[in-house]
Amino acid sequence: MSLYHDRGVVLRTHKLGEADRIVVLLTRGHGKVRAVAKGVRKTKSRFGGRLEPPCHVDLLLYEGRELDIVSQAETVDHFRTVRDDLDRLGRAVSMLEAVDQLALERQTNARLYDMLVGALRALAGQDAPLVVAGFFLKALALEGFGPQVEECVVCGSPGPLASWAIEEGGLRCGAHRQGPAVSPEAVEVLQQVLGGRLGTALSETRAPVVAEVDHLATRALEHQLERRLRSVTALHRS
Ligand SMILES: [Zn+2]
Repeated sequence: MSLYHDRGVVLRTHKLGEADRIVVLLTRGHGKVRAVAKGVRKTKSRFGGRLEPPCHVDLLLYEGRELDIVSQAETVDHFRTVRDDLDRLGRAVSMLEAVDQLALERQTNARLYDMLVGALRALAGQDAPLVVAGFFLKALALEGFGPQVEECVVCGSPGPLASWAIEEGGLRCGAHRQGPAVSPEAVEVLQQVLGGRLGTALSETRAPVVAEVDHLATRALEHQLERRLRSVTALHRS
């Protein structure tokens, strides 16, 4: 078996047998990887708590056919402030779940990896309210499914944009208004996130705007994941 080195973020784990665990990671060089961590559930495990979500670890892995095997794991970042705070941990887990569904096994996606590490650091540091929404929208854009927020999806008018047409992948102007209304403040934040001004968007703290953008970003992600699930199901049926 060949041995390889990579860095990864632990997305989730599940039990395997008496003492082992399967660890699902997003690695920088090998995409999503599923690996067995032997003896990790024993009290004196050599891995300690290093292989728990959302730890960022430096890994040495044996390549297997379906499952790799963790040989060594060294901590890059525990994200202690995230793990010790239930609210932040919950928000981190929602990003880990999104990545778990978006990333493909053994297909390098260094941008997604870098974005996830960046978002976890932002959550652990300043904990801006829009870290998760920003991450969802940027991740969708990276996969080629970013909502269109600069102009109306029907007529291409720059606005003012007034409603959110998720099925059509973006915003609609006042004349073509359909679907849930979107405030001008939320439109501005969406344009900041998707227009390369994430830093500005992360300074947004007005609760109603944050709640609105959070909701829109979550719906956009769910819509995309449902669509993909349907196309996978259709593929399996045919
Ligand atoms: Zn229009």
